[in-house]
Amino acid sequence: MRKFADFYRRSIDERDAFWAEQAALIEWRTPAEQVCDYSRPPFARWFVGGTTNLCHNAVDRHLTTRADQAALIAISTETNTERSYSFAELHAEVQRMAAALQALGVKKGDRVLIYMPMVAEAAFAMLACVRIGALHSVVFGGFAAGALASRIEDAEPMAVVSADAGSRGGKVVPYKPLLDEAIALSRYKPTAVLMVDRGLAPMAMRAGRDHDWAALRARHLDAAVPCEWVESAHPSYTLYTSGTTGKPKGVQRDTGGYAVALAASMKHIFDAKAGDVFFATSDIGWVVGHSYIIYGPLLAGMATVLYEGLPTRPDAGVWWSIVEKYQVTHMFSAPTAVRVLKKQDPSWLKKHDVSSLKALWLAGEPLDEPTAQWISDALGVPIIDNYWQTETGWPILTLANGVEPQTARFGSPGKAMYGYNVKLIDEVSGEELTGADQKGVVAIEGPLPPGCMQTVWRDDARFVSTYWKSIPGRMVYSTFDWGIRDADGYYFILGRTDDVINVAGHRLGTREIEESISSHPNIAEVAVVGVADSLKGQVAMAFAVPRDASGLQDPAARLKLEGEVMQRVDAQLGAVARPARVHFLNTLPKTRSGKLLRRALQAVAERRDPGDLTTMEDPAALQQVRELIGD
Ligand code: ATP
Ligand code: MG
Repeated sequence: MRKFADFYRRSIDERDAFWAEQAALIEWRTPAEQVCDYSRPPFARWFVGGTTNLCHNAVDRHLTTRADQAALIAISTETNTERSYSFAELHAEVQRMAAALQALGVKKGDRVLIYMPMVAEAAFAMLACVRIGALHSVVFGGFAAGALASRIEDAEPMAVVSADAGSRGGKVVPYKPLLDEAIALSRYKPTAVLMVDRGLAPMAMRAGRDHDWAALRARHLDAAVPCEWVESAHPSYTLYTSGTTGKPKGVQRDTGGYAVALAASMKHIFDAKAGDVFFATSDIGWVVGHSYIIYGPLLAGMATVLYEGLPTRPDAGVWWSIVEKYQVTHMFSAPTAVRVLKKQDPSWLKKHDVSSLKALWLAGEPLDEPTAQWISDALGVPIIDNYWQTETGWPILTLANGVEPQTARFGSPGKAMYGYNVKLIDEVSGEELTGADQKGVVAIEGPLPPGCMQTVWRDDARFVSTYWKSIPGRMVYSTFDWGIRDADGYYFILGRTDDVINVAGHRLGTREIEESISSHPNIAEVAVVGVADSLKGQVAMAFAVPRDASGLQDPAARLKLEGEVMQRVDAQLGAVARPARVHFLNTLPKTRSGKLLRRALQAVAERRDPGDLTTMEDPAALQQVRELIGD
């Protein structure tokens, strides 16, 4: 069985022929003259001379074959609403939104900032933008005014599309006051604001600037807005990274390369076909939402589920009830969400028939073995880890079951995907590590394949200096993650390059220590950071969330659990890796996308200023750390 190996080799050795074939998965207005222009590294241009349109490929293209099939299934357990849009209905709604944006003055190349909850109108707005050649810049609806203001300043959107409110856990979260405050804070002022009124919160409308979607929609009910055919390299959108390691970076994506990459991933990675049903539990504010709630499934003619709500409301079986009701075939989520479910009664996973599911893909963070095993046992379908970044737009490492059925290995997100010339690099010497089981920086030799970032928005210099200059003497793209590769080509991600700690000269990955600690049955979640130590340089410090915290008020019980955790690390990794302290918390500090904010933990543990916290979920989590550390 060498099918995947051959497929992969060809994607690297016969790059242009390989991608020319993949390009046929989408429709072009004019075909490309050149597959890849890499004359100005590290800037790659894919499908030069080709013109296409992302909305045409996601929507219009399917009208002849599946106009009446479901395209978008919008479910909200917050407002208890459910509505399925066929491709024909989606086509009509997108054109209404496109006409409304045009009426507000939006033109090709303009930016439109989308600050929306998970409602169908958010999808209409994204598709409407790319339809008319405008760039969307979706900002996660949970961000507060400051984070929103800095993104408005960076993107300089001509228009903003927003809503009166979102809702979380049954609690209405008004958006309009935050938006107004953000615009007031921003030096740049958008000309027009289009508000979707869900009837959840009152809105103060500003005359001349703010417009009501329902009114504009009514005026454009029969809108016929043709797709604007754009150059393959025309940017489709900008999107910010999660801000886990610092200030978020504005990723700029092209049109043709992205469409081809996503269409190819639906086929080769997800083994999906038209008519299947995709349910990604992410948010449109993140890259998973862009690639696998909106564009990927629609490009493939699949129905996609857009879900507003918690995984635990009305009960912890809600996801599986959606799977059953809509016969979901492909599900995509994140380890952090699975860990939330893991704290609930496991019987919820048995209450619904999930036999339509082919597999569950998980991404965004390391998938620890206990979590993977738990969800795999509970669901009875393959769990497929996949590793990628906002920057790349689609998986770097995973399994390509559409090419050849591949077996997953626990702890590994899989193999290098076609198109990605993945290398492990020694960060000091800059040399490539070719042997098995050697630790290095996960890097990608240019050109990055189609679908990856073109540049940092308005900052080519930052693109080059941030991503391509971090390894001495070598121009390769750095992921800033550590990894190893086994003899069979499976990679293991060991953590971020700045998460390595150095204890008395021993370099330890925080991930390894976390894996060891989370194997303790009473640990639900854990974060390990390196803390400066006058004797050893650094020591490991662990912050753990116990599964069952009852009884842990008692200092003796805490000490006992701490001792057990330390013993585990001693036994599995050796005493050098043993954390100096194991602190117990109710919750860990995370980004709004659910990633551990280790840098903030580390800063507080070292009694430093934690820096930019605009992407943080719950500030109270850090307060608890401060109290534990003591001032
Ligand atoms: P920032 O770049 O702003 O600091 P971020 O890196 O968290 O934030 P994302 O693009 O959302 O922004 O996340 C990509 C990162 O998430 C990867 O570089 C890696 O560290 C981590 N990651 C994603 N998927 C996996 C996975 N399957 N296994 C391990 N780590 C993963
Ligand atoms: Mg990153």
